[in-house]
Amino acid sequence: MKSQKLLIIAVLSWLLLIIGSFLWSYNSAKNGQENIALQTARSFFDQVVITRTWNARHGGLYAKVTKNTLPNPYLDVPMRDIKVNDNVTLTKINPAFMTRQISEVAQERDGIQFHITSLKPIRPQNKPIAIEKDFLQKFEQGVKEKGIFFQKGGKNYYFYMAPLITQKSCLKCHQWQGYKEGDVRGGISVTLPFVMHIPLLSLLVGHILIAFVGVLGIVVAGKKITQAYQVMQQQAVIDALTGIPNRRSFSETLLKEIGRSRRSQEPLSVFMCDIDNFKMYNDTYGHVDGDACLQKVAKKIKECLKRPSDFCARYGGEEFIVLLPNTSLDNAVYVAEIIRAAIEKMNISNKHSLPAGVVTLSIGVSSTEGGTVFEPDIIVKNADEALYKAKEQGRNQVQSCKIT
Ligand code: GH3
Ligand code: MG
Ligand code: MG
Repeated sequence: MKSQKLLIIAVLSWLLLIIGSFLWSYNSAKNGQENIALQTARSFFDQVVITRTWNARHGGLYAKVTKNTLPNPYLDVPMRDIKVNDNVTLTKINPAFMTRQISEVAQERDGIQFHITSLKPIRPQNKPIAIEKDFLQKFEQGVKEKGIFFQKGGKNYYFYMAPLITQKSCLKCHQWQGYKEGDVRGGISVTLPFVMHIPLLSLLVGHILIAFVGVLGIVVAGKKITQAYQVMQQQAVIDALTGIPNRRSFSETLLKEIGRSRRSQEPLSVFMCDIDNFKMYNDTYGHVDGDACLQKVAKKIKECLKRPSDFCARYGGEEFIVLLPNTSLDNAVYVAEIIRAAIEKMNISNKHSLPAGVVTLSIGVSSTEGGTVFEPDIIVKNADEALYKAKEQGRNQVQSCKIT
């Protein structure tokens, strides 16, 4: 259950990581596109400003009057128009007029629009639209530039604007408006058709694939780790030689059963079994046979226990311990006697275990009435004392001791 919870946490963390990575990648791609739009618009703006400066430094330039280049009625300067002959008249093109004309060319070619505007326009058509007005006010507060994406008629655009800073060459025409060098005199907006190219589909598919592979990896690895952990847990409580629970497992079970016995007022019995003359058995038949004998004895003891709550463990060496919950001393002695007889009946030859001449067990039984309070060690100690008595009185027998 705990490992399942950990697995869910690991999967969720992985998915969160992938979602984070997706959002980060999407944001990076979006920032990249925004940066391209900004740099493009900035370049157009700079180009226009450079051209305007060039124009202003010349104090305006003359071009032939045509139906597309009519004299600028808002340009109130001497020698605005110069008649060269009956066919040719020249008119002055100031930076603002030039910007409008460049804008017309750019719009025809690439759909890019420039708009020169000011909070105090000389030409009424240069009045700012709402967003331009908002941006111009921000420029006066020190903002250097602004750009936003917008949609119009189903098409995507990037709208950029930066201030026009009054330079020395501008003062020739604009000083009368009260501007000084460095003042924000207005701004030029650049509107670019711009579609953001964010590889959303490949980002999404890539991340879903990574998420899937990761989840699969976590689940498979998680299962393997859980299995390994379960094996390890089992190994920690199972005796490697005999395959029955070990002493540590017995201690844990004993504590639980003592608590249960105390609460339920039911008796609890423990008995300690020790193979008689086993050292001699080893010395005579060898350790390999000794091990095999231990395995057989453990198996037989287990087989003799019938209730699901009965518990046996290898206590150490050639000693086994049995725990019988809800069993009185008399009944425990009865079970112990069955086990003793069953081991003798196995007929495993041990010529040093006389007079039987076979492997035998000595058993010390200890029991407690239900509801009594005692230290867990006491019941084991008493079983050990009973076992000592069994050994003393000739081995291959059951002796008992009651805790009162
Ligand atoms: P007693 O009847 O008084 O119990 O005599 P004993 O020889 O059985 O007792 P002792 O404590 O002198 O010897 C126990 C022997 O058990 C010593 C050791 O060789 C053997 N033994 C303990 N653990 C193992 C084991 O894992 N494998 C094998 N083959 N022998 C073991
Ligand atoms: Mg012993
Ligand atoms: Mg022994």
